Amino acid sequence: MEKKNIDWSNIGFGYIPTEKRYVSNFKNGAWDEGCLTEDNKIVMSECAGVLQYAQTCFEGLKAYTTEDGHIVVFRPDLNAQRMVDSAKRLEMPEFPVERFVEAITEVVKANAAYVPPYGTGASLYIRPYMFGISPVIGVKPAEEYQFRAFCTPVGPYFKGGAKPITIKVSDFDRAAPNGTGHVKAGLNYAMSLHAIVTAHEEGFDENMYLDPKTRTKVEETGGANFIFVTKDNKVVTPKSDSILPSITRRSLIYVAKEYLGLEVEEREVLLEEVKDFAECGLCGTAAVISPVGKIYNHGEEICFPSGMEKMGPVIQKLYDTLTGIQMGKIEAPEGWIKRIL
Ligand SMILES: *Cc1c(COP(=O)(O)O)cnc(C)c1O
Repeated sequence: MEKKNIDWSNIGFGYIPTEKRYVSNFKNGAWDEGCLTEDNKIVMSECAGVLQYAQTCFEGLKAYTTEDGHIVVFRPDLNAQRMVDSAKRLEMPEFPVERFVEAITEVVKANAAYVPPYGTGASLYIRPYMFGISPVIGVKPAEEYQFRAFCTPVGPYFKGGAKPITIKVSDFDRAAPNGTGHVKAGLNYAMSLHAIVTAHEEGFDENMYLDPKTRTKVEETGGANFIFVTKDNKVVTPKSDSILPSITRRSLIYVAKEYLGLEVEEREVLLEEVKDFAECGLCGTAAVISPVGKIYNHGEEICFPSGMEKMGPVIQKLYDTLTGIQMGKIEAPEGWIKRIL
């Protein structure tokens, strides 16, 4: 297969439409069989549920080329299950796990020319999503839905090495107690936009959100979970009902325990104890791990000993091991890598 003529290392993270996307419609209580389409436009009622009351959820995962030249995706079954969980919370129909994985497989196969070659650091980002498409004016769930999955090639997240970032403790909340923080709902992002624009204006890269009830515990950022390392090399990740269960974070915990023999604690993390950690990182599909060098908390600066030049040693090891597994350089746990081509 001939690859597209794209400058893979310099494409950044933007929407580049590819030829094919997958679409399936839910009507009269059932999903149709679904198909690939070249049409990247959606026509819907002005009164569609998604437009009026934000009834939509999404996922994000990547396809990439391994060292031995195969195109693979990483743990798509977990994205599928998470979308089922999101759909339930938003009163949307479940898109079955096997059908989700099949849809991803079809989209990647049909757009194989857009999967960046090994060694470029680039990948094919896949965006599955679902939304209420039938008219809704009185507040209630829509009756009809559309599931879609498109993809777009994205460049390496870190150009010229991962530089630690600076984040601030936000005065805004991203999730309400007993709200939707634990599901991948578009609405969680809509209400975080003001907070991130504000943080950027103030010169910070990201927000650290606290638990909305007591504002004493660390939750996550707008789109990535925290991972901390103690001075005696224990890996600590915050536990809370309003954190989005990151697949990257769950994979890193497994890697820490099973590959690196590190002790791992999933527990409540107080903002007060953050200054005692040795390393801090943000984990998510986009970057795998972004190192955090500094946290700003209302006039007080927490500077991690790992500094502003490079990742801390434990986070670097976690990063190298997980990306090694993804690229086929290190043997993967059973079922983690789904080969597409
Ligand atoms: C998607 C997302 C993450 C990262 O999850 P991954 O499965 O690792 O990509 C973290 N936090 C939030 C709020 C998210 O929406």
